[in-house]
Formats: sequence, C-alpha cells, structure tokens
Amino acid sequence: MKKTVTCTVCPNGCEIEVNYTTKEDAVLTGYTCKRGINYALDECFEPKRTFTASVRITGADRRMLPVRTTAPIPKDLLLKAAEALNEITLEVPVKCGDVIVDNFLDTGIKLIATMSLEGEDA
Ligand code: SF4
Repeated sequence: MKKTVTCTVCPNGCEIEVNYTTKEDAVLTGYTCKRGINYALDECFEPKRTFTASVRITGADRRMLPVRTTAPIPKDLLLKAAEALNEITLEVPVKCGDVIVDNFLDTGIKLIATMSLEGEDA
C-alpha cells in the first residue's frame, strides 16, 4: 500500500510517501527529520487529532463553552467524543484551562475549557 502524508509538525510541510504492508516494513521517503517519520507512521497506523468542540453551560450570557483535549486522541474516538459532550452541562464560573474531564474517554488525556466565563451579572 502507498500513502502520501503531509507532515504538519512544523511549517515545512514535507510530503512524506509511505510504502507498506505492515508498520514494521514501512519504507518512507520525503521526510526531512525524524519527527516526520513518527508523524507519517502515526497517520498511517494510529491517526490522532486534537478534539475541539463546545459544551453546554448555564448562568452565562452564552449557552456554549469551547473546550479541547490537551493532546491528540485516536481519530476513531472523535464521534464518541462528540457524543460524550451531550452528557455534560457546566455552570459558571469557568476559567480558561479548567479541567472539564480528567481522563477523557479513558485516554488519559484531559478535556479543558478554552475560555473563561463568569456569571451574567459578574
Ligand atoms: S518532516 Fe520534519 S522538517 Fe518536514 S515538516 Fe515534518 S517536522 Fe518539519
């Protein structure tokens, strides 16, 4: 199998070609540094993304609070992650960086607020 991956680790954006049948026999070309090798292998075999979304909040002048994971989570968990947020309703006050879920979907990764919100009359 052959896959071309654009490395997003740094602004160089190297186009890395990966030829493989398994992770162990993968042959990579086009990378400039070792970080690109790790990125391309992850993209082919264990793709991950930082999850960003919003959760309901009460007591503020807006109804949704933006959140994100503190590190990328497996890409195949993104739908489950969105569904998990339906079960969460927060109350003000919330500070940017507050941990909303400590071990999000058992990944060991935190879900945090990315905005501070006070009460409507604060
Ligand atoms: S392979 Fe290295 S130099 Fe190229 S984009 Fe990735 S991190 Fe940057």
